[in-house]
Amino acid sequence: MIVSATEMLKKAKAGHYAVGQFNINNLEWTKAILLTSEEQKSPVILGVSEGAGKYMTGFKTVAAMVRAMDETLGITVPVALHLDHGTYEGVKACVEAGFSSVMFDGSSYDIDENVAKTTELVKLAHDNGLSIEAEVGAIGGEEDGVVGAGECADPAECKRIADLGVDMLAAGIGNIHGIYPENWAGLSFETLDAIQQQTGEMPLVLHGGSGIPDEMVKKAITLGVSKVNVNTECQLVFAQATREYIEAGKDKQGKGYDPRKLLLPGFEAIKEEVKVKMELFGSVGKA
Ligand SMILES: [Zn+2]
Repeated sequence: MIVSATEMLKKAKAGHYAVGQFNINNLEWTKAILLTSEEQKSPVILGVSEGAGKYMTGFKTVAAMVRAMDETLGITVPVALHLDHGTYEGVKACVEAGFSSVMFDGSSYDIDENVAKTTELVKLAHDNGLSIEAEVGAIGGEEDGVVGAGECADPAECKRIADLGVDMLAAGIGNIHGIYPENWAGLSFETLDAIQQQTGEMPLVLHGGSGIPDEMVKKAITLGVSKVNVNTECQLVFAQATREYIEAGKDKQGKGYDPRKLLLPGFEAIKEEVKVKMELFGSVGKA
């Protein structure tokens, strides 16, 4: 069932668990995540970066594929189709294409411009029944080619953006996209706590969820994080399972070269990873 992320995140915030956002790259990814969500009776958010959208030939293709697959597989759990780190133009394109949720990442603008653009896009999203996520303070690591250091957002700025009526708020608390470096300082719970106190009921979003130690993720959820984004971990397990298949020479046995066989171990690895994350976030059985 394709819905906006508003209700599932309100429930998560009230119930002290988090909904996972798992980014999709193709049909196998989408199918693996949808099936696992249904099996685990968990709400889910399918994240689509602008790069992945382009790779799949555009947001229209993505929306058509996800909506048709959701219907054909008979998915009953709430599923949000969400633009990840959207530009101003990207948000408009996804509203048009049939997404049910968008993120506007205005963190590269100064706070006044971020406020102005976010205000406009909140109205556009809500007029069309979509939920919207905003970002304050750049998340570290590589974000579609932009490399940041893992900075912490200003809680007062978070409050300003939260008051614009967004449905979820991403704020930097020392988290990083991609693989965490050896010398990473960890999440700043002090910052998270301060943001939570300023923003109250607002569901907070933890980006760069891949590779944050489980205990830190759990603590972040107790401090108001209601959505955790996972991308890199699914990519890593997919790559590893595919490599093992090839290295074992299985593509050379019988019709092992058939893409439906070749991509199967990676597909199953994604399913397992999504299940493990849903258990960690506490969303199993919450749909
Ligand atoms: Zn992110």
